[in-house]
Amino acid sequence: MQNSTIRHDWTLAEIEAIYHQPLMHLLYQAQTIHRSQFNPNEVQAASLLSIQTGSCPEDCSYCPQSVHHQTDVEPEKMMDLDAVIAAAKKAKAMGATRFCMGSAVRKPTNRQLDAIIPMIHAVKALNLETCLTTGMLTETQAARLKVAELDYYNHNLDTSPEYYPEIITTRTYEDRLDTLATVQKAGLKVCCGGILGLGESLADRLSFLQQLTQLNPHPQSVPINQLIPTEGTPLANQEAVDPIEFVRVVATARILMPGAYIRLSGWRKVLSSETQTLCFFAGANSIFIGETLLTRKNSLPEEDQVLFNKLGLQLEMSPKYTEDVHRSIPTPITLSATTVS
Ligand code: SF4
Repeated sequence: MQNSTIRHDWTLAEIEAIYHQPLMHLLYQAQTIHRSQFNPNEVQAASLLSIQTGSCPEDCSYCPQSVHHQTDVEPEKMMDLDAVIAAAKKAKAMGATRFCMGSAVRKPTNRQLDAIIPMIHAVKALNLETCLTTGMLTETQAARLKVAELDYYNHNLDTSPEYYPEIITTRTYEDRLDTLATVQKAGLKVCCGGILGLGESLADRLSFLQQLTQLNPHPQSVPINQLIPTEGTPLANQEAVDPIEFVRVVATARILMPGAYIRLSGWRKVLSSETQTLCFFAGANSIFIGETLLTRKNSLPEEDQVLFNKLGLQLEMSPKYTEDVHRSIPTPITLSATTVS
């Protein structure tokens, strides 16, 4: 492979060609690019805490925290600072290097940010990276978070622009892109990904990946979720994603965004050990650890440990986002089923 650079102009035809290669070619390319940027035997561990739960006015069809759906989630007001610190210490003791805080709102009030900023300071004082998700931000709010030394702001695109109105009607894709632009303008790193299994087509998945690549810089963190169908939500009866299709999306994301941490997020607990292994080989290098993900169960820590031992994987000790490093990237060449390489 020759060397190439980070690209923001991938066409859908190019992305399709990468995705549809024979799986062995796709995995080989993704792994080659992955190991040019990261240690292939290390996986970053992040932890996710819901600091304010439920009663969200948005109507995301997949989310049990939406006020529009009747689910078992009990609304909880903003957590105390001490409780957040205790959770962050526990996450660090388990090996997390990033601590993500989620607040279920359409957009935060300035008073809510007043409560969140001391949490950011306290988590950073534990020498953990910080990530926050709390909906749409104004420029002033994003600047406040930058001054507070927040590392990452999470704002997911979820799916393609074409399919988005089927999933959420209380905001638009443009709203999402506007907040991402505001966050990047403030100098914060972006965590932005999506969910597979919402009923979207393959074309939607590829269009969603293209949208991510058009962010400049690329999101430094890309969570790839599998839907957690939750009783009481409109998507309660969705079928699970085909595991090989899931792996193909991960591999394609790795090839398109060489420097990003690609995270296996929601519903990792239902991915078999073998599927997770293929995802790691395809370039996934971040997971959420801990027993809960916002309001849902996550993989058990002891199960993760067993898998990591079998694979010889280790948790990454310190973050290495690679855009800052500027390593050369092998050029992906799409290969046909009969190409001998
Ligand atoms: S904005 Fe977030 S918390 Fe609110 S309904 Fe959507 S996914 Fe759930």
